[in-house]
Amino acid sequence: PICFFEASDDQAARDRRALQRDLEHAIEADQLFLVYQPFLDIRKGRVTGFEALLRWQHPVRGLIPPSVFIPIAEESGSILEIGDWVLRKACQEAVNWTQPLTVAVNVSGAQLYNANFVQDVHKVLLETGLSPRRLEIEITETALVRDFNRALATLRRIKGFGVRIAMDDFGTGYSSLSYLRSFPFDKLKIDKSFVRDATATHGSKSIVRAVISLGKSLGMTTIAEGIETIEQLNHMRAEGCNEAQGFLLSHPVPVTEIAGKILELRNGFKPAVVRNAMAS
Ligand code: C2E
Ligand code: MG
Ligand code: MG
Repeated sequence: PICFFEASDDQAARDRRALQRDLEHAIEADQLFLVYQPFLDIRKGRVTGFEALLRWQHPVRGLIPPSVFIPIAEESGSILEIGDWVLRKACQEAVNWTQPLTVAVNVSGAQLYNANFVQDVHKVLLETGLSPRRLEIEITETALVRDFNRALATLRRIKGFGVRIAMDDFGTGYSSLSYLRSFPFDKLKIDKSFVRDATATHGSKSIVRAVISLGKSLGMTTIAEGIETIEQLNHMRAEGCNEAQGFLLSHPVPVTEIAGKILELRNGFKPAVVRNAMAS
């Protein structure tokens, strides 16, 4: 009955506020950290970079996924401070990698529309000494909706530093095609929902094919995210997709495992059966 739902809604709202308060202290309490998921050039079979993914080790609740706390941080505005921390940390850590590969950083809409964002990116690059060519910023279509022209002006200035811009979760937002016409994205990340279905349903297969061909003709790199099976990887290779990322290739790893991942994947991805046969 109604009062049951009201009570549980109340509970959910209280929970949210409690998390919001805890999140305000997460940086100073050293509870945030980054993990890194590699992406591969499919044809060359080499790691070309790693995407930084944020994790929150809550003292009581344990590990909280970004899908839960990023929306809360966006609502309270703490995403600005958190986003700045992520960018700085990712650049700092990438400077010490064993190879000068790309580091991809997710940026939320709130950051993009913050008046200081361009300056902040510039500052972080200068202070960490990371070459701008190694930084890739991932923006979702949804972030562009609020004020398209302003977002594009910001992205143009950042691109002017030599930083690359990727469109994340491509195909899940709105009017993607007009965005592509108006801004030279460097990379299109084909959303994992299309990748998952591309080997099964005709609709997704056609969409994937169209996006790869669109990327190619616009001079944008295409990457398939969420690759979980060898069939999906083979399919994306056959379709001419440039890069791949997903649990099949590697889960996100702590920064200390980056050197090992580069070595492990240096001769291309080998399914576990092949790796084991080679080792024995
Ligand atoms: P995203 O940027 O699209 O990142 C990809 C997500 O898919 C990651 O989840 C990754 O762990 C997961 N993933 C990778 N390979 C596979 C796969 O093969 N199968 C499946 N099912 N999932 C896979 P994660 O780390 O939980 O992040 C979720 C989302 O949270 C990210 O989606 C991104 O939108 C957001 N996020 C993460 N870190 C940050 C950050 O530092 N800043 C901002 N603003 N957002 C972030
Ligand atoms: Mg991303
Ligand atoms: Mg994505």
